[in-house]
Amino acid sequence: MSKKGKAMEKTEPDCIFCRIVRREIPCDIVYEDDKVLAFNDIEPKAPVHILIIPKDHISGVLELDEHHKELMGHILTVASNLAGEKEIDESGFRVVVNSGPDAGQAVFHIHFHLLGGRSLAWPPG
Ligand code: AMP
Ligand code: ZN
Repeated sequence: MSKKGKAMEKTEPDCIFCRIVRREIPCDIVYEDDKVLAFNDIEPKAPVHILIIPKDHISGVLELDEHHKELMGHILTVASNLAGEKEIDESGFRVVVNSGPDAGQAVFHIHFHLLGGRSLAWPPG
């Protein structure tokens, strides 16, 4: 079956975030549904620093195609809801996806950083 096929469940044995999804590594979950998992970043860069990931393995934004449109929209909606729950919706927040070396992507399972609770510099470093 195609790597980009949406019917199959995609998991990678050695991917750290797939291992979190499979509950092989503990994490501090803040939201979960059948498609996504959200958990606190282990090295928070802001008072609120949550990672939102699809449960299926997708290596990064470069792997996205038309099949992922609904999932990506869902992840942003989860980010918006969590911003409300964490009470950073009024003060402001940032949703960040790093891709490749210049952006400092360290984990090759797509993840959306939800950052807030302090003033965030722009442009980013
Ligand atoms: P990136 O540089 O965009 O690839 O971000 C990877 C993020 O994953 C970093 O902010 C790390 O602190 C975070 N991270 C790595 N391992 C874990 C883990 N086991 N639990 C929670 N967050 C993690
Ligand atoms: Zn993965």
